[in-house]
Amino acid sequence: MGKATGFIDYKREEAQERNPKTRLQDWNEYSAPFSDEVLQRQGARCMDCGTPFCHIGMEIGGATSGCPVYNLIPEWNDLVYKGRWKEALERLMKTNNFPEFTGRVCPAPCEGSCTVAISDPAVTIKNIERAIIDKGFENGWITPRIPKKRTGRKVAIVGSGPAGLAAADQLNQAGHSVTVYEKSDRIGGLLMYGIPSMKLEKRVVERRVNLLNEEGISFVTNTEVGKDITSTELNKQFDAVILCTGAQKHRDLVIEGRESKGVEFAMDYLTLSTKSLLDSDLKDGQYIDAKGKDVIVIGGGDTGADCIATALRQDCNSIVQFGKHPQLPMARTSNNLWPEYPHVFGLEYAHKEAKAKFGEDPRQYSIQTKKFVSDENGNLKELHTIEMRKVRDESGMFVYEEIPGTEKVWPAQLVLIAIGFEGPEQEVLKEFGVHVQNRKVAAEYGKFETSVDGVFAAGDVRRGQSLIVWAINEGREVAHKVDHYLMGASTLPSQLAM
Ligand SMILES: Cc1cc2nc3c(=O)[nH]c(=O)nc-3n(C[C@H](O)[C@H](O)[C@H](O)COP(=O)(O)OP(=O)(O)OC[C@H]3O[C@@H](n4cnc5c(N)ncnc54)[C@H](O)[C@@H]3O)c2cc1C
Ligand code: SF4
Repeated sequence: MGKATGFIDYKREEAQERNPKTRLQDWNEYSAPFSDEVLQRQGARCMDCGTPFCHIGMEIGGATSGCPVYNLIPEWNDLVYKGRWKEALERLMKTNNFPEFTGRVCPAPCEGSCTVAISDPAVTIKNIERAIIDKGFENGWITPRIPKKRTGRKVAIVGSGPAGLAAADQLNQAGHSVTVYEKSDRIGGLLMYGIPSMKLEKRVVERRVNLLNEEGISFVTNTEVGKDITSTELNKQFDAVILCTGAQKHRDLVIEGRESKGVEFAMDYLTLSTKSLLDSDLKDGQYIDAKGKDVIVIGGGDTGADCIATALRQDCNSIVQFGKHPQLPMARTSNNLWPEYPHVFGLEYAHKEAKAKFGEDPRQYSIQTKKFVSDENGNLKELHTIEMRKVRDESGMFVYEEIPGTEKVWPAQLVLIAIGFEGPEQEVLKEFGVHVQNRKVAAEYGKFETSVDGVFAAGDVRRGQSLIVWAINEGREVAHKVDHYLMGASTLPSQLAM
C-alpha cells in the first residue's frame, strides 16, 4: 500500500484550476496540473483497503458508484506514491483505453465510494489518473502498438464516440481489421463535438485518434451509414458490425413562443462553437453568438454548464441557468449514504466562471418556463417563468406543483435548451432493422447482440445518455463478444468473464 498512515498525515488537495477571470479569455483547459510531489502525497492517502469499492463500478439508486472500467486504483496509487510512474501507467492501461479523457472529464464516481471518504475527503483519484497518462505521453512511453498478426476478419463500427473508439482499439489489438464510420467531419463523437475545449482540448482527442490510426484502424468521416452507405453494403463487406451511434436526439421544450428566433438547442450551440473554433479560430462566424446578449440556459445539468462556459467566453451580457429541481444539500443525507454517488451541492467550473464575471452563481432552482415572447420581428425578447415545489400526490408519489404568485419575466435574446435527450436517432436503427425498446437498441448488457445476426450495439445507443467511462466499458465488453463471435473464443479482457 501507499503510506500506512498517509490518510491521517495528509489532507486532500483539490484539483488545481487556472484563475477563472484569466481562463475566460481563451478556450484552453481550465484545469491545471499538480506537481509530482503533491501527487505522490495524494497517492499516499490511499489506504489500499481490503475491499476497494472505488474500482468496482455498479449502479446504486440509479447513479454510478465506483469505477465502471474497474481501474486498478489502489495499485496505481501505490506506484505513484513510490514514484514508479511507468509501472503505474502499465497498470492503468490494462483497464482503461483512454485515461486522458476520463482523467479530465469523468465525474469520478470512484471518489464517492473511496473508503477514506467514509469520514474524510476522498483520495484525489481522477487527478492521479490524468497525471499518469499525461506523463506517459510527455515521456514518449505511449507508442503505437501495431498488431503482429492479422486474423483476416473485418469489423465495421458505426459512430466514433468513446464506445466506438474503445471497441475499435480492442478489436484491432486482437488482429481484426477495423473500419470506423462517422457522419461528422471529425472523429470523437461527443468527445469532439459536445464537450467543449475548456474541459477537454481537442488536440488530446486528435492525439489518440492519430495513434489508433497508426496502429491500423481506418477512419471514414463525413459518411452517414444509412445515407452514404447502406447497411446491406456494410453487412456484405464486413464479418460483424457494431452500432455505437450514441443517443443525441434532442429533447425539445414545446411551449408557447418556441418558434422565436434565438431559442436554440444546447447541442447545436456547443457543436457549432467547437467546429468554428477548430476550423478558423472563430473567424468564419459560423456559430451561434452570445456576445452582448442576455442568455438563459434551460436545464440544470452538465450540458447546461458547458453552455454557460461557452457563452461567457463569447462575452454575453448576462447568464442564468434554470433547473427544475431544488438546490442539492451541502452534505450527504441519510438516503444518500456511502458508497453511493454523493448528490451534494458543488460549483462546476462554469459556475465559478460566472461568479467571477458577474459576482453570483447563475443557477435558479425549482423553476419552470411557461412561455417565450418575441418582438414584432420574431426575435426572442423575454421568457416567462413560475416557481415550483415538490409535494406528494394522493398516491404518495413526489410531483411538482406551481406556486401561485411567483410568476416572473426575464429579458433574454438567447435561450439554450439543455433538458436532456430523447434517446438515439432512429433512422440508422431502422436501416439495420434491429429491435428497439424505449427508443434504445434492444441488446442485453453483457451480450450486446441485437436482433440481427452479426450486428452488435454498445454505448449510449444501447444504454441511453450516460458517461464516457461507461461508453469505454461497453466498447471493451462488446469487443470481447465480437472477438468471440468471429473466432469462437477470445483472449480480450472482460470484467464480465471474471
Ligand atoms: C454536452 C455534453 C457534455 C458531456 N460531458 C460529459 C462529461 O463531462 N463527462 C462524461 O463522462 N460524460 C459526458 N457526457 C456524456 C458522454 O459524452 C456520452 O455518454 C458519451 O460520449 C457516449 O459515447 P458513445 O460513443 O456511446 O456516443 P457518442 O459520443 O454520442 O458518439 C456517437 C457518434 O456516432 C455518430 N453517428 C451517429 N449516427 C451515425 C450514422 N448513421 N453514421 C455514422 N456515424 C453516426 C455521431 O455523429 C457521433 O459521433 C456529455 C454529454 C454531452 C451531450
Ligand atoms: S475512469 Fe472515472 S471512475 Fe474510473 S478511476 Fe477514472 S475518474 Fe474514477
